[in-house]
Amino acid sequence: MAIATINPATGETLQTFAAHTDAEVDAKLAAAVEAFDRWRLVPIAERAAMLNTVADVLTRDRDALARLATLEMGKTLASSLAEVDKCAFVCRHYAEKAEQYLADEPIASNASKSWVSYQPLGPVLAVMPWNFPYWQVFRFAAPATAAGNVGLLKHASNVPQVALAIEKIFKEAGYPDGVFQTLLIGGSKVERVLRDDRVQAATLTGSEPAGMSVGKIAGEEIKHVVLELGGSDAFIVMPSADVEKAATTAVTARMINNGQSCIAAKRFIVHADVYDAFAQAFVAGMEAHVMGDPMEEATTLGPLATEAIRDELADQVDASVREGATVLTGGKKVDGKGWFYAPTVLADLPDDSPARKEEMFGPAAMLFKVTSLDEAIAVANETRFGLGSAAFTNDEAEMARFGRDLDAGCVFINTMVASDPRLPFGGVKKSGVGRELAGHGIREFVNVKTIAIA
Ligand code: NAP
Repeated sequence: MAIATINPATGETLQTFAAHTDAEVDAKLAAAVEAFDRWRLVPIAERAAMLNTVADVLTRDRDALARLATLEMGKTLASSLAEVDKCAFVCRHYAEKAEQYLADEPIASNASKSWVSYQPLGPVLAVMPWNFPYWQVFRFAAPATAAGNVGLLKHASNVPQVALAIEKIFKEAGYPDGVFQTLLIGGSKVERVLRDDRVQAATLTGSEPAGMSVGKIAGEEIKHVVLELGGSDAFIVMPSADVEKAATTAVTARMINNGQSCIAAKRFIVHADVYDAFAQAFVAGMEAHVMGDPMEEATTLGPLATEAIRDELADQVDASVREGATVLTGGKKVDGKGWFYAPTVLADLPDDSPARKEEMFGPAAMLFKVTSLDEAIAVANETRFGLGSAAFTNDEAEMARFGRDLDAGCVFINTMVASDPRLPFGGVKKSGVGRELAGHGIREFVNVKTIAIA
């Protein structure tokens, strides 16, 4: 895949970028090691405080940064602005909390004194996706650099300007050279970097195949890896729920980021008692979306980020319909320039339909009718993914069952799944390994060092 800015709203190639050569990458790896030698000795309070300056730069430049994201990957300008603001939030969160999260932990043992000290690992490679092109990077970079690591970003090939802008933000915030660098390289060059002895660990947010590849190489090199992969999140509605609120939230949860979010709700599992009311309100809400240029304020649904992503979604929907699924609305590409796909709702999905088994990365939802709590949980858990789940109910016993029995990294009751710097985030099953955010996230890229004095 060429490293290029291609406007998804028009299909026009706006700028292409030469990939860094192996020699240029090597120079950046050397700079990372040199930077780490000094950065790890900077007191954590100072490293963390610098994140406030990063937040200031993000806030100062939010309009230009947001426009860049919208231009490169097609999310609405309002959601790009919200994303930049969330990056400032995660920086301020770790500015305030990093020292506390990584404070020494005394542990009683046979030694006269023993404790755990959280120490940085070194250069960490971050392979990142385009869908939240700032947020995915900052939720790694803020804790990892505060912990004393240095970051090497390999961003998705369709967001090179965002990738370069992030490097510049750290520079402008006063970070020493080499603490955060962007590598302009394609996915095929990741292996060479990951196998390099100077790289100590890796994190990847992206698809299952990319995660498997990076996980396998990291395993062979015995390097720590965090994987944040796909999801096909369940959204359950039970009879005691506020159905109108559930339907409104369901539309937002499915359509966030033009439908291209790992934690977008994708499978709507609704009790038969409220199925018709929910389906009617949900379909109406999906149809109310205004498709168009994501730079325009009135637009609520932009294009998909690449032509390949739109084609894959269209193939999944078409194949599911051929196998017997019913289209309640949408189910087709939109003619004309850009990679638009109509808001789509499918029902009556056969067990083996692609939509039911795969992740649908776009504005397409699936409806399932169930007749009991047990059936709702069984349908929710039937996928190989386990990122997030949402359930709407006002019955406390049901809330407890969902919290205990849904196979997911998080369960949200009466609200949609969302990431939050204060809460750990990550998946089970094929949705990934490890956690980001909160104290759990900052402790991923550290040496949990035991120190004991006889
Ligand atoms: P992708 O194709 O896997 O790309 C993600 C990143 O991995 C890009 O930088 C890409 O580089 C690189 N890459 C691709 N194949 C690779 C390989 N074999 N080895 C090493 N690097 C490789 O994913 P995407 O389509 O851009 O993103 C969508 C996926 O990300 C969805 O499945 C979504 O659910 C998941 N996601 C998960 C989370 C989470 O937190 N769990 C968050 C957001 C997205 P190139 O661009 O150069 O190919």
